[in-house]
Amino acid sequence: MKILDGKKTSATILEQLKIEVAQRSSEGKSIPHLVAILVGTNGASETYVAAKVKACEEVGFQSTLIRYESTISENELLNKIRELNSEPEVDGILVQLPLPAHIRAENVVSTIDPGKDVDGFNPESIGRMIVGLPAFVSATPYGIMLLLEYNKIETKGKHAVVIGRSNIVGRPVSVLLSNNTNPGNCTVTLCHSKTANVKEICLQADIIIAAIGRPGYVTADMVKEGATVIDVGITRVPDPARKSGFRLKGDVDFDAVSKKAEWITPVPGGVGPMTIAALMKNTMKANIQRNYE
Ligand code: NAP
Repeated sequence: MKILDGKKTSATILEQLKIEVAQRSSEGKSIPHLVAILVGTNGASETYVAAKVKACEEVGFQSTLIRYESTISENELLNKIRELNSEPEVDGILVQLPLPAHIRAENVVSTIDPGKDVDGFNPESIGRMIVGLPAFVSATPYGIMLLLEYNKIETKGKHAVVIGRSNIVGRPVSVLLSNNTNPGNCTVTLCHSKTANVKEICLQADIIIAAIGRPGYVTADMVKEGATVIDVGITRVPDPARKSGFRLKGDVDFDAVSKKAEWITPVPGGVGPMTIAALMKNTMKANIQRNYE
């Protein structure tokens, strides 16, 4: 068993970006600028946004964090996004999800200029990605593809089983893996809660991507010897021994599955850090596309 180390891979990508930023800056080129909007005080969202801001600092990007009370109206938020869309110095805009119930996330993501949509949630970005046009691919699926690429995992001709069909993880990663690209060129099966025989399907998988949100769902008896197992799940489970009172658990029963898998991601330290690296790569790309192409 080999660990698909997201922390290490992410650090490599951030280091490459840091060098690229320094190089471009020495040539008088602009520094990428990411604006993150956080509405309310959701604990997990606070953690994710803080990690994104910290990564910007690490690679030498400029970042701005805009905070709003959870009572902000949808209109106010949309107006702010429109303002940022037309600000030449802003390269990437992300609005941390989930949003309070009175704000329609689909309106928010659709308002972000596709040229600045570094989270890749605008339906235009998703549509472009599906038909193979240049687009920002949302950070988690892109991060998974980068993890496969940087660790030279062979995907061509493999059977990939994706469990979970959400618009932010399962569905886009199933499209990316099926594309005529490297990584890609997989034969993909997409499972969801109505799939009758998830276990039998998983047993045929060379690559399993678990994006369900159910701790320990993928057990050893579902995994073929030598498979690559990527665990996207992050669920907070109570842990009185920890100061925070919780720990993070993935969708894969790591201890048992790691005895059968050839490659496996840990949780934490797998897909999570890759999501950040992918967002940084998207922000760099946005800066270059907007200013220099
Ligand atoms: P989601 O929107 O709740 O989607 C979960 C998917 O799992 C749904 O498609 C659902 O099927 C499917 N599912 C639920 N129970 C199932 C079962 N018993 N058998 C087969 N499929 C089942 O979740 P998400 O946003 O995609 O996130 C999934 C997990 O990834 C969560 O733990 C989340 O925290 C984590 N995540 C991690 C990152 C990261 O950076 N590492 C980023 C995003 C999300 P239906 O469609 O039929 O309901």
